[in-house]
Amino acid sequence: TEAHVEAVEKARALNAFVAETPDKALAMAKAADGRLANGTAGPLEGIPLGIKDLYATEGVHTQAASHILDGFKPRYESTVTSQLWRDGAVMLGKLNMDEFAMGSSNETSFYGPVASPWLPPEWTREKGRSALAGDKQGLLVPGGSSGGSASAVAARLCLGATASDTGGSIRQPAAFTGTVGIKPTYGRCSRWGMVAFASSLDQAGPIARSVRDCAILMRSMAGYDPKDTTSVDVAVPDYEAAIGASVRGKRIGIPKEYRIDGMPAEIEELWTKGIAWLRDAGAEIVEISLPHTRYALPAYYIVAPAEASSNLARYDGVRYGLRVPGKDIASMYENTRAAGFGKEVRRRVMIGTYVLSAGYYDAYYVRAQQIRTLIKRDFETVFADGIDAILTPATPSAAFGIGEKTSADPIEMYLNDVFTVTVNMAGLPGIAVPGGLSPKGLPLALQLIGKPFEEETLFSLGEVIE
Ligand code: GLN
Repeated sequence: TEAHVEAVEKARALNAFVAETPDKALAMAKAADGRLANGTAGPLEGIPLGIKDLYATEGVHTQAASHILDGFKPRYESTVTSQLWRDGAVMLGKLNMDEFAMGSSNETSFYGPVASPWLPPEWTREKGRSALAGDKQGLLVPGGSSGGSASAVAARLCLGATASDTGGSIRQPAAFTGTVGIKPTYGRCSRWGMVAFASSLDQAGPIARSVRDCAILMRSMAGYDPKDTTSVDVAVPDYEAAIGASVRGKRIGIPKEYRIDGMPAEIEELWTKGIAWLRDAGAEIVEISLPHTRYALPAYYIVAPAEASSNLARYDGVRYGLRVPGKDIASMYENTRAAGFGKEVRRRVMIGTYVLSAGYYDAYYVRAQQIRTLIKRDFETVFADGIDAILTPATPSAAFGIGEKTSADPIEMYLNDVFTVTVNMAGLPGIAVPGGLSPKGLPLALQLIGKPFEEETLFSLGEVIE
């Protein structure tokens, strides 16, 4: 813990942490020492972790990287983090993220962008150091929205981190930083005490250095919680036992619709390599079709903002954080929300309010929900045909530069999620596993998609790829 506290302090230029809790960390480590000595140690005893800023942590900074939650320190602990502490883990602090988890590059945070510890390949260390000390432009993004989690794990500031995934926010940052991230089945981890973005899509999950570490963390994070009505009461298996299990005879689907126009050659090659690795390990490769794939991204960007606009209605200047006074209560609401929400969050609230409004509801929201059902059925059909898991690339490219995609057209950023959002729309588990480096030397990752509550298959297959 001491070594990690020091590493966090030394790496402040990455901007991965929004709050450091060294005293708490050392006290927790001391308690862990005691339990290790008296033989009552838990499975995560003394393991230092970073916590994404959207998990409620009692008495500790919890703002989902938003200005509107200024000064908010919950009086309660989220279920996921309390289970981690129950099992002995140690909290190093809260991790930066895109504001309310809206983004794919960690550039929408009120606290500024997070840098990836990976340098742009053509840069000298000197140039990297001066950009880190300055405005960070041109350094690589760690992905988002769990950019702080991915950067901190990749930079060895913590042994693992909590993250969350609404449309790819665990898998895409893991892919960009050469770490491993798993989004469990919807309902596997409790959402209680997590700041809500889009409640029907949000899931907790870990980012860690290896498939095994993810499996270990998942066992503590998962489990039924009566406080979350969408949490599912199924037993949590020993995920670690799945590591090293044979994948012989597993049927792996390769969906032809994921071979999108303009896919870079390096992503094609990565996918081909992944197929070969699984085939060599004894899996059977099967070409499959998920015909509604191309509607997933547009439907996601209707459903997610719709739910967000409703979830974010609670930030009114009365109950939490920031309050900007006005001449009456309505203007206080307006002033608070105008000052408290960043640009991307305001855009989502406007889109969401629009698609839910009378006259547009049927044309947008209802249609998007219908598409969601079709996407879910696509997966159900292939799984019913005997497919065990699906292999795709995790992202359409390697990491890009800070400032590179913050153009006037947000769709350029949204396209990053093309391979990940389908999984959330269908409520399935998905893991991103490093698949090697691009020709320029940047991490690339493969994604495995599994059947509901069959994360173990993903751990077994992920271990083969890793
Ligand atoms: N990038 C996607 C979005 O901005 C997904 C974010 C997430 O998974 N939290 O909505």
